[in-house]
Order: sequence, then C-alpha cells, then structure tokens
Amino acid sequence: LALLYPAVQGLGEMALTVSQAAAGADRVIELLRGRPTVTDAPGAVAVGRSRGLVSFEKVGFAYPGRGRPALQELSFSAVPGQVVVLTGPSGAGKSTIAKLLLRFYEPGAGRILLDGVDIRGLTRRSLRENVTVLHQETLLFSGSVRDNIAYGRPGASLEEIIGAAEAAGVHDFVKLLPQGYDTPVGQRGRLLSGGQRQRIAIARAILRDAPVLVLDEPMTGLDEGTVEQVMRPLRRLMAGRTTLLITHDLRHVPEGARMVHVDPVPRVDRVRLKRVGFQPHTARLSAPP
Ligand code: ADP
Ligand code: MG
Repeated sequence: LALLYPAVQGLGEMALTVSQAAAGADRVIELLRGRPTVTDAPGAVAVGRSRGLVSFEKVGFAYPGRGRPALQELSFSAVPGQVVVLTGPSGAGKSTIAKLLLRFYEPGAGRILLDGVDIRGLTRRSLRENVTVLHQETLLFSGSVRDNIAYGRPGASLEEIIGAAEAAGVHDFVKLLPQGYDTPVGQRGRLLSGGQRQRIAIARAILRDAPVLVLDEPMTGLDEGTVEQVMRPLRRLMAGRTTLLITHDLRHVPEGARMVHVDPVPRVDRVRLKRVGFQPHTARLSAPP
C-alpha cells in the first residue's frame, strides 16, 4: 500500500484542482486509499452550523482486521473556547480520534456526539463542514497561493482571502512573491517552507470557519523559530472554537487547556487475563478533570 501513496496523492491533487467540494475530495482520496466506506444512515440529518459541543463517550475502536483495539473506553468532552489536549505516546490512538470524529470509521463501542447528537445520525458532508483538521504536514495542491487559501471556502473574494492571509500571518510573505497571490506553490506546495505551508493551511481554516478544530501534531517537524510564527495565528484560529489539540509535545500547550491522556491499549496476555476473569483489552484511560 505504501507504494501506492505517491500515485494516490497525485490523483488527490487532481481532485482538488478541479475544485470539488471539500467533502467530495476527501471521499475520493479515501476511496483511493481503500478505506472502508462509511455511508450515511437512512434518514441521516444534515446539520447546519454546530455549536461545537464534542463528546466521546466510552469510545472503542479496532481497525478492520486488527485484533488489538486502537482505542478503548475513551471519554472526554469539549466546548467552544476550550482547548482539549490529547496527548500520549506514538501509537496510542490519537490520530484515530480525528478519523472517528470525521466518520472515516465507525466506533465499535460507545458514541461520539456533536451538540449532543450521535454523529452516526448526521450526513457525513454536514458533519465535515463543521470540523477542520490540520495535519502535521500540510499538503497543498499545485495551484496558486490564492487557490490554496480559497479552498477553505470556494467562491471567496480576494478581499476575504487576503483577510485570512493577514490573520494567519502570511500576507506579508505572499505580497513579496513574484506573482503575489497568483504565485504557484509547486507540486504539494514544495516551493514553500513547512512553516509557510502551515500558515496557508491556517488561512484556509480561517476562511472555512468551522466551529470544531482538530490539530494533529501541527508543530511537529517545524524548527523553534517557525513554531512561534505558526502558534500565533493558531491561537487566533482557536479563539471561540472547540479545539482538540493532538500533541505529544507539551511545550506548545496553550494556557488553560485541559489535558486528556490517551494511553495505548495494552497488549494482553489472554491466558492470564482469562484466569483473573478480565475481558481482553481492558481500557486504560486517565482523564484528569
Ligand atoms: P497515534 O496518532 O497516537 O500515534 P494512531 O491513531 O495513528 O496513533 O494509531 C493507533 C494504532 O492504530 C496504532 O497501533 C497503529 O499502528 C494503528 N493504525 C493506525 N492507522 C491504521 C490503519 N489505517 N490500519 C490499521 N491500523 C492502524
Ligand atoms: Mg498520530
């Protein structure tokens, strides 16, 4: 599968260049990656703008074909204006939380609620319009800076795009580019630095204006000098939204954030557990208040 990735990303780019709706492009990539298809439930409701109340209630999940769950009995909730930091070692299941919230997969146990409603009852499109995910590495598509920011809200005016770029601290840099906002970013944005790509992703997220944000290790791979240039606009983006900040690096946790520790589901000695009468894969989650 790893061998397929470059090809798949190429196709993903094509899908983005023809400027499909965000959810549509995600879906193309998802299908190409061979992910299991989670379809809308019969009678699924299209929600409007969410208030941004997110809760996970005893969520358990194992990837298809995997015996050991990626998550077990994970519970936490988050409200607007709050940053919930999901931290834990590599492999603990942190990125899986984002995939479940976007319904790339369905939990095997427990429930995920948006504004108190089980997300299984929502259309995936309307769910995804309410959630912006920022990844460690932002892959831009090979259009202009302007196209890449406008992807957050197709049809945005140049004024809106510039406003978002200013808020993301990237306007001064773009102004100096040979063709300004019309400068091509190169394949996957390789003509820009990692910090510049992250700030363009933040500008895109500002335009998109979804009430729920998931930041999956947004600082990883950036050098110390760049971190602050990304942190500042990120704090602006987070203000008033519900933020799930996934990070194993506790240096960049904003003040007042609530910590939720995601512990890896332990490998279990089935025989021993049977003897003491436990179910395999007993939950280990500590979520201090
Ligand atoms: P983290 O983000 O905390 O490093 P992940 O959520 O990426 O952890 O992964 C949790 C567990 O699920 C790991 O054991 C990982 O190997 C496994 N995993 C992640 N993605 C997949 C996948 N697409 N298919 C099967 N297993 C996966
Ligand atoms: Mg991860």
